[in-house]
Amino acid sequence: MPILVYAESDQGIFKKSTQELISFARAMADQMNTEVIAAVTQDPSSADLGQYGAHKVLNLENTLLSTFNAELVADALSQVARATGATTVIVSSSANSRYMAPLLAVSLEAGYVPNVIGLPETYTPITVAHNVFTNKATAFTTLQSGISILGLSKNAYGVHQYETNAEITPHEVTLTSSSVEITSLDKASNKVMIADAEVVVSAGRGLKGPENWGMIEELAEVMGAATACSKPVSDLGWRPHSEHVGQTGKPVASNLYIAIGISGAIQHLAGINSSKVKVVINTDPDAPFFKAADYGIVGDAFEIVPDLIQKLREFKAQNA
Ligand SMILES: Cc1cc2nc3c(=O)[nH]c(=O)nc-3n(C[C@H](O)[C@H](O)[C@H](O)COP(=O)(O)OP(=O)(O)OC[C@H]3O[C@@H](n4cnc5c(N)ncnc54)[C@H](O)[C@@H]3O)c2cc1C
Repeated sequence: MPILVYAESDQGIFKKSTQELISFARAMADQMNTEVIAAVTQDPSSADLGQYGAHKVLNLENTLLSTFNAELVADALSQVARATGATTVIVSSSANSRYMAPLLAVSLEAGYVPNVIGLPETYTPITVAHNVFTNKATAFTTLQSGISILGLSKNAYGVHQYETNAEITPHEVTLTSSSVEITSLDKASNKVMIADAEVVVSAGRGLKGPENWGMIEELAEVMGAATACSKPVSDLGWRPHSEHVGQTGKPVASNLYIAIGISGAIQHLAGINSSKVKVVINTDPDAPFFKAADYGIVGDAFEIVPDLIQKLREFKAQNA
């Protein structure tokens, strides 16, 4: 039975998380002696996912899918799963997929495990390790349902290259209008989106006021990073809510997370503990964040950040 992947794209470009999903699905498919089918709902013209391991790409041709709508995507994927006989569906941990996957699970009467952190421990039935309690513990779940939906955590498996020539075909789905109408879509204006960023530069109340964010934006620009902030900073209106990171904000799974003037409250750490390397800059040597940090600088952000920008600019100029 094939493995179906929901291949999310953004303005015609497949996200790194989608490439990772396909690679993950391919590794599973090789174990299960089956094939990977990628379902593409938006901008299907760029649908070459063979290099990440997909055997087939289905372009779901329906104009109702041109803007993400969880109900309609779940309906479409449910039809594809039935048509292809897929018994495993892989989705990402994006906000859209987290919204859509439970709807799909209901439609397919499938079991759904989010936050999966690696290939299955067993394949028949599927047993997977997944993060629970805001990543504080790992649970092992065995899916007894006929169809399994796995939500892969970002950066849990990595992107792998294959030399597969994926067969790309249109696939019709019949959709009726959704009970949810999307009237407008406000996209965050950040140059690099937090969810996709390899590097995130994040700042907290230690920055004293919104007028001091120039150096944070500059550091982010030099590093090609996304900017983020702690909850009080967005509550105070210093930064947009789209930048708020933590338990009640966005999760971050970047390779590098730089926290500047953030104390490291448990609710903030809950959102960033999937990030690989954490660097903390704080005047208080007893700030809790240092306990979670890989590298720490005890010092004043207003001295360190400009120095860091200068050194990075010099380094880039020398290595241009
Ligand atoms: C239910 C609930 C949910 C929550 N959810 C979230 C969430 O999702 N995300 C989140 O972030 N918070 C969340 N919080 C709030 C959280 O508990 C903290 O209050 C918050 O994270 C603190 O933000 P902060 O670190 O920016 O500010 P502060 O706690 O005020 O820390 C500022 C830090 O800056 C340092 N500092 C000061 N001056 C400088 C300087 N010049 N240079 C360098 N460092 C300096 C200080 O030493 C201090 O460590 C939640 C709280 C609750 C109760």
